[in-house]
Amino acid sequence: MSTSSQGSSTNRNANRNSLKPSSNVKSKPIQRRTTTASAVKDHTTVPGRVRVAVRLRPRNAEELVADADFADCVELQPELKRLKLRKNNWDGETYEFDEVLTEFASQKRVYEVVARPVVESVLDGYNGTIMAYGQTGTGKTYTLGRLGEEDTAARGIMVRAMEDIFADVSLESDSVSVSYLQLYMETIQDLLDPSNDNIAIVEDPKTNDVSLPGATLVEIRDQQSFVELLRLGEAHRFAANTKLNTESSRSHAILMVHVKRSVKGRDASHSSENGNHPHMVKSLKPPIVRKAKLVVVDLAGSERIDKSGSEGHMLEEAKSINLSLSALGKCINSLAENSAHVPFRDSKLTRLLRDSFGVLTGTARTSLIITIGPSPRHRGETASTIMFGQRAMKVENMIKLKEEFDYKSLSRRLDIELDKLIMEHERQQKAFEDEIERLATEAQHRISEAERNYVESLEKERSKYQKDYMESIKKLEEKFVMNQRKNEDPHMKSNTEIPSITAEEMADLKKMLQKETLLRKAAEGETNNLKIQVAELKQSEASAKIEISKLYKILEEESHQKEKLEGEIAILQSQLLQLGLEADETRRHLDRGGFSKEVGGRDSLTSQIKHQQQVSGNGEKPSIAKLFEQVGLQKILSLLESEDADVRIHAVKVVANLAAEETNQGKIVEAGGLTSLLMLLKTTQDETIHRVAAGAIANLAMNETNQELIMAQGGISLLSMTAANAEDPQTLRMVAGAIANLCGNDKLQTELRGEGGIKALLGMVRCRHPDVHAQVARGIANFAKCESRASSQGMKSGRSFLIEDGALPWIVQNANNEASSIRRHIELALCHLAQHEANARDMISGGALWELVRISRDCSREDIKTLAHRTLASSPSFQAEMRRLRLSH
Ligand code: ADP
Ligand code: MG
Repeated sequence: MSTSSQGSSTNRNANRNSLKPSSNVKSKPIQRRTTTASAVKDHTTVPGRVRVAVRLRPRNAEELVADADFADCVELQPELKRLKLRKNNWDGETYEFDEVLTEFASQKRVYEVVARPVVESVLDGYNGTIMAYGQTGTGKTYTLGRLGEEDTAARGIMVRAMEDIFADVSLESDSVSVSYLQLYMETIQDLLDPSNDNIAIVEDPKTNDVSLPGATLVEIRDQQSFVELLRLGEAHRFAANTKLNTESSRSHAILMVHVKRSVKGRDASHSSENGNHPHMVKSLKPPIVRKAKLVVVDLAGSERIDKSGSEGHMLEEAKSINLSLSALGKCINSLAENSAHVPFRDSKLTRLLRDSFGVLTGTARTSLIITIGPSPRHRGETASTIMFGQRAMKVENMIKLKEEFDYKSLSRRLDIELDKLIMEHERQQKAFEDEIERLATEAQHRISEAERNYVESLEKERSKYQKDYMESIKKLEEKFVMNQRKNEDPHMKSNTEIPSITAEEMADLKKMLQKETLLRKAAEGETNNLKIQVAELKQSEASAKIEISKLYKILEEESHQKEKLEGEIAILQSQLLQLGLEADETRRHLDRGGFSKEVGGRDSLTSQIKHQQQVSGNGEKPSIAKLFEQVGLQKILSLLESEDADVRIHAVKVVANLAAEETNQGKIVEAGGLTSLLMLLKTTQDETIHRVAAGAIANLAMNETNQELIMAQGGISLLSMTAANAEDPQTLRMVAGAIANLCGNDKLQTELRGEGGIKALLGMVRCRHPDVHAQVARGIANFAKCESRASSQGMKSGRSFLIEDGALPWIVQNANNEASSIRRHIELALCHLAQHEANARDMISGGALWELVRISRDCSREDIKTLAHRTLASSPSFQAEMRRLRLSH
């Protein structure tokens, strides 16, 4: 077996060269088996498992505006292959995937990690499937179907897969054919022949092959006709959907590529090594043909269309789309769990994919790419997409981590840089190739033109010369005849006359001869000139060739450097990963060490909590409920006062996790958790405890009743104290977040200020971290809003507490901060402050008026701009000042 596979790969190379002899510039050998090491490695070590990658789409124009104030709902850690789904400002859940592709990932990289291993195994004779799953608009079609004709770097998986296939097969002995289908409401339509709109699936019980005999199957011989075919299919898909009044996002698009290769037996490989044609040797065995199928599926949008309360057709549609998608989910689950029965028969989609899933043969490869968007408004859909991907990876693989890994940002930056380089490199390469081709054609063109000119002029000169020559001969002959006649004339007897006439003629002849000579010399000169020109042209062609080979060298060097860079990054990444793993290991080790020190009744309780922390990896809510039942909140809270610092840290983390869920908050407060958390701020010096406790308090402080409780228990002075002592930006962010929440409560204004809340908030800007500043800005905006409400109701008079406590300079300074999360809050705060005449004088002298005018003119948020405009218009003091300064707005 191994000999035959080696033989076939040698043939592959030979075929590749023989296929495109003239375009050696373009036919770079594809680098099989040298792609991103991890992808290939994983494929060989874990055969049969569905590989799952997640890809984040960059913010689109609408999201850039509408979500400007909010963080993305996910945070990617590509170097750890992890994704964190944010629950709120402080909390999130982390999941692992086979590949995590950020919004910077190039199409090339996506192809290499998601699709290339599948394409390679198809070329080796196994079936393969590549699927994209995700909410409409998250980039499924972008990932799979982009043709990239305007930008080479934008080509999607389908086009790149076909390129790799063509680079590897021989069109003499192999064949590649394609079907393109749409599955809508459990009906299969032919995208290559729209009249063919109900295609049956046929399963061969013996071979387990699935086929669609009714579908159009087009044999493809070059890349261009494949691209044409895709375009045709897309046009038909659009037309069909217009007719059915649906959108393409509700149907599944399925591309099937059948690769049929002739496998040369041992005899044949022997003959081809001798340079003979394989058919010359009579093989005793019939030729073996190896068939494989690549299926690329652009799935329907995963959003639940049934929740829109649809009826009739829509409802039917919703059911059928969910039928195929949910059947797919079930099959993936069963496959992941190795269960005996996989419910392939439940839907057309799963029947169609049956032989591509590989359980039956154990050899097929399946890659799933799930696509997600960054918007926090679609958090629900994004979460369910992630869960689909996680199930596909095997349920028990799911990992939930609560720690943040800030030190990974270096590697992330390198990764982004690498992707940019890859993209740029691909573009440059294309540009180089185009330029070289252009130069070569131009040189060829110029040479042939010069040659043509040369031949033409030569011909012209020659015929002119010949004509002149003939004329001279004619004249000479005439003269000769005349002379003879004269000689014969009887009247001309005098012999003396003859020599005189001959002398004249001689002179004439001489002149003519001289003229002829001159003409000939001129022609020769012309010819020489032309010869020199041709030589020059040849030389310039040679120098163009040198130029081309220089360009080649540069190109080679570049790709060499890129490879080196990739290698270095791979090493860095593996080191980082190792570090991360070691850190996890050490922590776990420490955890174990910690609780083994515990004695007595608490021992079991502590270990239960720690155990829970570890298994809460599966991210399911029941575990939290279970924790409540098994351990009892009261007991968990009692651990907050444990002697053992390690236990205290664990306990506070558990409480913080519980506090992140709204449903638990009431119970925690009732059981005295809030008091305990506040106490922790006072009694311990541990930074981690401060950070986690402040986070929990911030979460609890989202609710009005709790805000009042926090105040009543002296929370502000405790938070202020923590704010004054903490160094860690994350701790400060949590504390600022908690105070910011309190600032939004109308009833607490005076007390909050009285206990130094505003000063504490302002004090935290000493930490330069933008997240801290954003929370401070949010607190100020909240406070200003409550104040302006109170003053419009006549409940507050006099200057704003914010101004009295000295917040104005910072506000003015940051009104145009480049971080939108800071700027937006400040803009709002300024508008609120300006609504109260008592603040006008300070605002004018502090420079706030200028900022307000700017906001009313330039703010990109239309609502804030209008608010600033209205505020300015309604304030007599501002109006007067603006008149004085001759400002208009
Ligand atoms: P889907 O097929 O999942 O509905 P599309 O592929 O049509 O989503 O993508 C929706 C929009 O987002 C398109 O305008 C597409 O160009 C853009 N888009 C998707 N993914 C990316 C990406 N990775 N980078 C840039 N633009 C993207
Ligand atoms: Mg799409």
